Amino acid sequence: MILIVDDNQNNLYSLKKLLESKDFQVDTADSGEEALGKALKNDYALIILDVQMPDMDGFEVAETLAGYSKTKEVPIIFLSAVNTEKRFITRGYASGGKDYVTKPVDPEILMLKVKTFYNLQEQNIAMKKTQQSLELEVKGRRESQVTMKSQIDHFHLMLESLPQIAFTLNEEGIVDFVNVKWFQYSDSEQDFPETHPDDLHIKEEFERCKKKGKALELEIRIKNIETGDYRYHLLRVTPVREENTIKNWVGTFTDIDDQKKVEKEKDEFLSIASHELKTPLTSIKAYVQLLERKLKLNKESAEAGFVTKVQDQIEKLNTLITDLLDVSKIENGKLKINKKPTNLGNVISNAIETILQTHENKVKIKHDGIISDILIPLDEIRIEQVLINFLTNAIKYSPQNNQVIVTTFVDEEEQEVKVNVTDFGIGIPDFKQEAVFNKFYRVEESSLQFQGMGIGLFICSEIIKQHHGNIGVSSKVDEGSTFYFTLPLN
Ligand code: ADP
Repeated sequence: MILIVDDNQNNLYSLKKLLESKDFQVDTADSGEEALGKALKNDYALIILDVQMPDMDGFEVAETLAGYSKTKEVPIIFLSAVNTEKRFITRGYASGGKDYVTKPVDPEILMLKVKTFYNLQEQNIAMKKTQQSLELEVKGRRESQVTMKSQIDHFHLMLESLPQIAFTLNEEGIVDFVNVKWFQYSDSEQDFPETHPDDLHIKEEFERCKKKGKALELEIRIKNIETGDYRYHLLRVTPVREENTIKNWVGTFTDIDDQKKVEKEKDEFLSIASHELKTPLTSIKAYVQLLERKLKLNKESAEAGFVTKVQDQIEKLNTLITDLLDVSKIENGKLKINKKPTNLGNVISNAIETILQTHENKVKIKHDGIISDILIPLDEIRIEQVLINFLTNAIKYSPQNNQVIVTTFVDEEEQEVKVNVTDFGIGIPDFKQEAVFNKFYRVEESSLQFQGMGIGLFICSEIIKQHHGNIGVSSKVDEGSTFYFTLPLN
């Protein structure tokens, strides 16, 4: 809006009409006092001010307006009929005017000037508004930065109080915080602790997980910089996601060295014990065979029955010890696989035959989907061991049902063969199915009712892993289980 100030009503009227004809909104004042009152109350984009007025002249009005913050920026054009002398014009500018127009007014010139100042002031106001909203935004950001910083500080304080080495990485995977325990194993915040030459490289492993956006979990030995000793640590690096994008990573090194030592001692004990047990057992087995031959017992006699029972028990003991030996071989990386092109169908038939004999044909095993004569690279003895384990379990954990189905089929697309062993026994609860392949794991609900050590499936999974195949189970409690393994065709 434009304010016109003139004590002459005719002038006011004609100028108002002129401006309104050009679509400007106009307000008027017929004295300096009224103009001051209005300027302080309303927002004007321009003031056109007559110099010659009774009481308060235009210069005084302009000087007063320049003293108020609300009005000091409003452009003023002076209108004067008489004071065209240079000194008046100079005063006009000195008192805060932007321009000086003499009467009689040339409407076209005045309109050009009005338009220019009006636009300038409009732009000025718009710029001020933008500046204000920018200032508000900056203030808001500063506040949220302060809150975020205090949250991060709190988080770092928590990481400091952890018993583990803790650190964070930014989205690019660069370390940006480490707690004080880090410096027992690294002398720089940027460098990961030094790992044992035989262990995996942390940076390489992390880069691999970062590409997949997955958490990293690794057991590695890292070097204590003070003692120079390597200690086993469990390294975990977990991505922190915000709306599906990884914002940063949080990592910990947990010292598991004592645990590892105990585990190693236990493995060593197992290895020694099973070796030591194996030797006398082999002698017992041989002497019982000799005894059986020497005694020439009547097959129907009670004594012959006792000898057979002794032999059965020796066989069971032998299996247990062999399994324990296998476990220690796995621990020491010495379970060797001898792959030769073999007819898997024959291996399955042999395993089924062995089971039928040891169970005196009291079980029914159906073999579906006989595979053709293709030869698959496998270790015959070890794969038979897996099958016998699956079949023994299928019978053992099905006290109410003696039916087992073995199915085999070739998956041309995956270039693999799959063998399923299905029973209709007690089944395994969902959340325990993965764990049955762990060392010494037994499902609690059935562990009292059925004897076992919980290592058979652990050995099976290791054998299949070494064949580059997969092993797994699907099962429903009280309905039965299907254990399966796959082997690559080539
Ligand atoms: P073990 O039978 O000597 O305990 P395994 O390693 O062969 O050891 O099996 C581990 C556990 O998995 C068993 O203790 C049992 O709880 C469960 N399990 C294995 N096979 C079956 C099956 N066919 N049905 C139900 N549970 C099974």
